[in-house]
Amino acid sequence: MERRNLKRLTVGSKLPIIITKLEKLRVKKMFKLSNRSKENLEGVDKRIIEIVELALTISVIDFGIPKYGGLRTAGDQRTMFKKGASKCDGIEKKSAHQSGLAFDIFAYVDGSASWDRYHMTQLAAAILQSAALLGYGLEWGGLWRNYVDMPHFQLKE
Ligand SMILES: [Zn+2]
Repeated sequence: MERRNLKRLTVGSKLPIIITKLEKLRVKKMFKLSNRSKENLEGVDKRIIEIVELALTISVIDFGIPKYGGLRTAGDQRTMFKKGASKCDGIEKKSAHQSGLAFDIFAYVDGSASWDRYHMTQLAAAILQSAALLGYGLEWGGLWRNYVDMPHFQLKE
């Protein structure tokens, strides 16, 4: 456990260096996580916060985190399941959201939310690149074979 925390700290400390390098190449403005998106990410694995924050600095499209887009209780998961927004019922089949290892996004374009495939794919490129730069394994639901879930990402343990 201690060793794991130490590794996280080391990786986290490299973040400003990576950002500085990227800033030199930057020709566009940098996006920032809104307070609501931050709230929706409360309780998730710290690696997710690092990935999301880095992705916002390199993405060409702004994005946010919807309600239930971070850590979910079994009740939240049940709500998503009943709405048809998830294949996991929260009890027999648990979602990675229930253990804080997953997050969902929406694109923020011209002042409104978008789940357009084009926007999702561009965002996935920035998010997957950020995870790779940080050395974290991340899976994108947009590449799932049976149930394509474009706004969904989860850490690979
Ligand atoms: Zn999800």
